[in-house]
Amino acid sequence: MAPVICSDPMPPELDPPPGVRDNASASAALGGSAAGVARLLSPTPARRQRRLAILVIVLPLLGVAAGVVTLVQGWVGAAESGLFLLAYVAVSLGVELGFHRFFSHRSFRAGRRLTLLLAILGSMAGQGPLLFWVAIHRRHHAYSDRAGDPHSPHWSAAAAGGGVLRRWWHAHAGWMLDAETTGLTRYVPDLLRDRMLFRIHCQYPFWALAGLFLPGLLLGAATRSWSGFGLGLLWGGLIRKAATDHTTWAVNSLGHMVGKRPHADARDHSRNLAWLALPSLGGSWHNNHHAFPASARNDHHWWQLDPAGWVVGMLERLGWIDRVHRPVLKPDRGTA
Ligand SMILES: [Zn+2]
Ligand SMILES: [Zn+2]
Repeated sequence: MAPVICSDPMPPELDPPPGVRDNASASAALGGSAAGVARLLSPTPARRQRRLAILVIVLPLLGVAAGVVTLVQGWVGAAESGLFLLAYVAVSLGVELGFHRFFSHRSFRAGRRLTLLLAILGSMAGQGPLLFWVAIHRRHHAYSDRAGDPHSPHWSAAAAGGGVLRRWWHAHAGWMLDAETTGLTRYVPDLLRDRMLFRIHCQYPFWALAGLFLPGLLLGAATRSWSGFGLGLLWGGLIRKAATDHTTWAVNSLGHMVGKRPHADARDHSRNLAWLALPSLGGSWHNNHHAFPASARNDHHWWQLDPAGWVVGMLERLGWIDRVHRPVLKPDRGTA
């Protein structure tokens, strides 16, 4: 959720050398001023981040409330619902296929144009800038359900000793209100070295707003009306954002609390949530994913719906991606 404080284009001295683990050593290695490097590589000040997080959580919910009114009034037709579906699938693919399976786990190799498209679509979700999102997720895998996991319902300073609802809330969205920081140089040195991706990261506010306003502009232009603009902004923007966010967040929260664990020896509490498979584009086979985090496919059985995995298969057949990682399953695993 943090806004980005960085310049564009990326100054050459910001390329962190391999092995740089934190901002202090980055500064020393780069020979630049500690304050300058820290300003560019550190997350946003906690208070500002907290305010933005509240806005990001509350605003889409207000959109949902307004959406109920438009439904009751009979203002929602095929154009609005079609726009919602299109925006939802496009942006959710940006999150699950792009930010998650490609940028966080490098589960396949893609060309520059597809890389750019996935970075933009994921940024349009408004779940935080690319490097921030990936750093948080890599930290989640590094410390799954242990001290250091940014959004575990089983461990956190905020949820310690709390009831089930409090632990769920912390893992779902409450973690964004914490003052914790995640070092970019430690978790995403590979992405920091990529100028194109760093530029998309810096342009995050633009792409996040585009994710809200583009559907409004499209429907407004198609109907040549302000009401079309408003309904497009509402259904393709705010309500789409609420749906994408709560689906992603449910994988983080419920996906570590309820559901089946075919890979019970995974070192964490991750679960498979079959009912969330379609909206999460396969992301909710979360126990499968934690067992094989580098895999581009989350479906371990034909009946496990994995739409992002289907797109991986399609892109591979088209020759747009290669080096696709797949899980190597033992015969008795992945049965739930
Ligand atoms: Zn997880
Ligand atoms: Zn992951």
